[in-house]
Amino acid sequence: MTSNEDYKQRLLSLRKEYEKKIGAIDADVHHKNEPVEKDFAEQATQRENDDVLNALNEDAKVIVSQINSALHRIDTEEYGICMECGIDISKERLDAVPYATLCIECAEKAD
Ligand SMILES: [Zn+2]
Repeated sequence: MTSNEDYKQRLLSLRKEYEKKIGAIDADVHHKNEPVEKDFAEQATQRENDDVLNALNEDAKVIVSQINSALHRIDTEEYGICMECGIDISKERLDAVPYATLCIECAEKAD
């Protein structure tokens, strides 16, 4: 059986990974002190890349906040309980998505 302590360790290392990712993306997006002598097409491509990076960054930030709330829920012993319907979230789901706050059925309904 996987204990909450195991999930906590997984969540903590996952959070570290995502924070590293966010830091790397921020550095990349803000790495703008290059000469702005590119032609229009290059600038457009650059902007598209930034949009993609920003979107990835937003996703990563959302996941970090979900990880934080999962960690909080471990402390308050609500971890692994669906926030919507209150049933236990399946072990398979928690193993796949340790920061899940909804059971698979509610997650599908939310989509
Ligand atoms: Zn549910």
